[in-house]
Amino acid sequence: MHKENQPLIFEMTKEGRVGYSLPALDVPEIDLSSHLPSGFLREESAELPEVSELDIMRHYTALSNRNHGVDTGFYPLGSCTMKYNPKINEAVARYAGFAHIHPLQDESTVQGAMEIMYDLQEHLSEITGMDEVTLQPAAGAHGEWTALMMIRAFHEANGEFNRTKVLVPDSAHGTNPASATVAGFDTVTVKSNELGLVDIEDLKSKVGPDTAALMLTNPNTLGLFEEEILTMAEIVHGVGGKLYYDGANLNAVMSKARPGDMGFDAVHLNLHKTFTGPHGGGGPGSGPVGVKKDLAAFLPKPVLVKKEDRYTFEYDRPQSIGRVKPFYGNFGIYLRAYTYIRSMGPDGLKAVTEYAVLNANYMMRRLEPYFDLPYTQHCKHEFVLSGRRQKKLGVRTLDMAKRLLDFGFHPPTIYFPLNVEEGMMIEPTETESKETLDSFIDAMIQIAKEVEENPEIVQEAPHTTVISRLDETKAARQPVLRYTKEQELVNV
Ligand SMILES: *Cc1c(COP(=O)(O)O)cnc(C)c1O
Repeated sequence: MHKENQPLIFEMTKEGRVGYSLPALDVPEIDLSSHLPSGFLREESAELPEVSELDIMRHYTALSNRNHGVDTGFYPLGSCTMKYNPKINEAVARYAGFAHIHPLQDESTVQGAMEIMYDLQEHLSEITGMDEVTLQPAAGAHGEWTALMMIRAFHEANGEFNRTKVLVPDSAHGTNPASATVAGFDTVTVKSNELGLVDIEDLKSKVGPDTAALMLTNPNTLGLFEEEILTMAEIVHGVGGKLYYDGANLNAVMSKARPGDMGFDAVHLNLHKTFTGPHGGGGPGSGPVGVKKDLAAFLPKPVLVKKEDRYTFEYDRPQSIGRVKPFYGNFGIYLRAYTYIRSMGPDGLKAVTEYAVLNANYMMRRLEPYFDLPYTQHCKHEFVLSGRRQKKLGVRTLDMAKRLLDFGFHPPTIYFPLNVEEGMMIEPTETESKETLDSFIDAMIQIAKEVEENPEIVQEAPHTTVISRLDETKAARQPVLRYTKEQELVNV
């Protein structure tokens, strides 16, 4: 499958060659077997590649050039917001005064860092319309779970131990039912109607005294704004439940509408999506949670507060759900999000939303003649096409996704949401120029034509990448493989 002969790091091995130099041992050598149980000791030394520092540098630099990232090409991965991360964020995150502080430093020595965190909390409260914010959770899903634990603590503090059900529409992000389950709730699926929105009658039939919360992904995973939120809020609050807003994709509504004003009690944000933290393999995430006043007592501790002109972490919070992250969360991501918010300003953040929505609608309407569009109303930041028409000609959405690689584009999210046959979930994001959007659209149209005229070229794609088709599930099923001396891949 290797089309070029870039050797594997194991093939570059020369016995005895090393990429480090250590000073000579100046303390007595220790025999590990007298310190560790024998079961933990290797019988043979590890089979590590033996290469020089320069060899390893060149090897990984060459590999990194084959990677597709936001900095190298368009990346319309639905629901993931793979947008450009401005480099000013990186410059600020690297300031020595931030980068070199230690989490165990005394509060009096890190007031500046605490001020940034506090201001970021304040900005996020304002953006979401919530009363208080915790920055602790390390990802979107972690934020969902944190908020659900708070909602659970709230109900239990009211003596309501019977609220065991969390309602999750079938158009929710996949992490929603997963987080509800991990937080100890039973999830109840609420159906979508023919417009792709929550079916209000179905919701009504499923709420009751056992309802703990409704988790709403908005816009939902079809890229559609839920139009009946106020009705949903009335229904859920009417039975004493709480409303949770999955705000991972806030670039669809930011500065236009606020979850807090719509009646939501809790919301999480993804700083590594909307607020330009590097995403995916690019670094740790951050999923702050905002809550209304009546959930605030349950926020994870310590809670960062301002007393007169000093910042301090409050530990004396008897109703807190406890700490959800060691130390204070992913501070480097706070700096990036803070820099982004400050450098964009209120008008900039509003423009973000306008362009995110405009770009998605532009692309959707231009592609509409060539693919099936299951939901035809205007979308928000993303939209879903169906490759149903192409499937009838023997070409799957997977094939078209692979063909996009030949045009230099990362494919969109495919086969999601599950209720769309041969789905393609496309999120162009607000940071792309019209020229880039047009070249992606041209590639998609070209592929649609190929499907009709020359389907093999799509079915056998990609043709230009270093590696052709991979086994789609092997990496998940057998995460650790190893090369033998004979260069055979084996399970570990
Ligand atoms: C990405 C995403 C999440 C999960 O965020 P992670 O940081 O990947 O855990 C949740 N909901 C929606 C709508 C998302 O797009």
